[in-house]
Amino acid sequence: MEHEYDYLIVGGGMAADAAAKAIRAADATAGIGIVGAEAEAPYERPPLSKALWKGDKSLGSIDLGTAASGARLHLGRRVEALDRAARRVRDARGDSYRYRRLLLATGAMPRRLPLADDDRVIHFRTVDDYRRLRAHAVAGAHVAVIGGGFIGSELAASLAGVGCRVTMLFPARSIGSGRYPDGLATFLDDYFRARGVELLAGVKVVEGRTDDTGVELVLSDGRSLRVAAAVAGLGVTPNTALAAQAGLAVDDGVVVDAQLRSSDPNIWAAGDLANFFSPSLGRRLRVEHENAAVEMGGHAGRAMAGAGGEFTTLPYFYSDLFDLGYEAVGLLDARLQPVEDWSEPHRKGVVYYLDGGRVRGVLLWNVWGQVEAARTLIAQEGPFDAASLRGRIAHGD
Ligand code: NAP
Repeated sequence: MEHEYDYLIVGGGMAADAAAKAIRAADATAGIGIVGAEAEAPYERPPLSKALWKGDKSLGSIDLGTAASGARLHLGRRVEALDRAARRVRDARGDSYRYRRLLLATGAMPRRLPLADDDRVIHFRTVDDYRRLRAHAVAGAHVAVIGGGFIGSELAASLAGVGCRVTMLFPARSIGSGRYPDGLATFLDDYFRARGVELLAGVKVVEGRTDDTGVELVLSDGRSLRVAAAVAGLGVTPNTALAAQAGLAVDDGVVVDAQLRSSDPNIWAAGDLANFFSPSLGRRLRVEHENAAVEMGGHAGRAMAGAGGEFTTLPYFYSDLFDLGYEAVGLLDARLQPVEDWSEPHRKGVVYYLDGGRVRGVLLWNVWGQVEAARTLIAQEGPFDAASLRGRIAHGD
């Protein structure tokens, strides 16, 4: 079967939803199609590791209501081929979709353990993964959380919060290491331990087996661990295969210009997939967070409908870990020079990440409503040093 759209969006995540709504706002009558590999209509992804576990949200409430934009959703369909000359894509079931303008919003895929995914081994990314994990996450169940990044730290806290026995394992020295200054990373490890999470630092999973009652994991230090389920967050790889096969410029993501347009003038890219230039950081980057998906999706949608300027937003991100939380902007890279400004050590304060006199990242640790101040600071020429940064962003009450 062949479908035809003015605007076609490949990928059915948060960027796709934002783009469809932005296109509709700019063009009341255009035909908009979304082809997504997941069976679900676009939904909010952040609650999968946070709010759904605290009972702050229900599964029924995370749907983004994309269909109200009038976009037609083709779900459970993976696009396999892009013919730029014919302006047509084809899905794995053989249906094709012609477009006038195309948005690639195919996101990223989880890096994998040397284990197959099954009901008890979950490479966590989708609402389906959430459902599978939830089925095993009963009080007292022993769950291994593999990876100490965003997914690992948020899920370990969430699983402990619902009464699971949690063992977290990761290759680095501490949770979020490389991202937080040493003192904060150590504090965080202690915070998790004090809430019952067992930490195995400096290890990887080298192999494993699943049976009817659990998973046996073999670790790089020779130990083995038997758990009811294992959930992994080992980072992601952008889904660039379609773009690369079609000959678009790809370099750690689909390379886009200031309008988020790819090297083909009829094709845009947004979200986890897109490698864009940030004027305030003065470099290219990909950002794998909700705010990037929403802001870039919306911007690309407007640009496709002829209403876009330059994309200058530096996306922010946030996390919740037990009762700690933060917002952050820019590069959280502990190899830069972190300047710590605590009003209560490791409980409330701001960490500035300095590089050559410029602020490249700001961590607002239990400090709220200061994302714009952080963005403004990162855009400033400086030069800054530790003394001129302390007290610069207020911590609030
Ligand atoms: P991530 O934050 O990049 O963390 C990956 C973690 O996996 C790191 O701790 C890494 O350790 C570890 N790792 C890598 N290879 C490993 C291995 N073989 N065995 C054990 N650990 C390994 O990625 P993520 O947590 O998987 O999250 C996936 C994506 O979702 C990311 O793009 C993330 O930004 C996004 N996300 C964002 C949020 C948020 O914004 N709050 C929440 C959830 C997910 P090393 O660093 O030592 O290599």
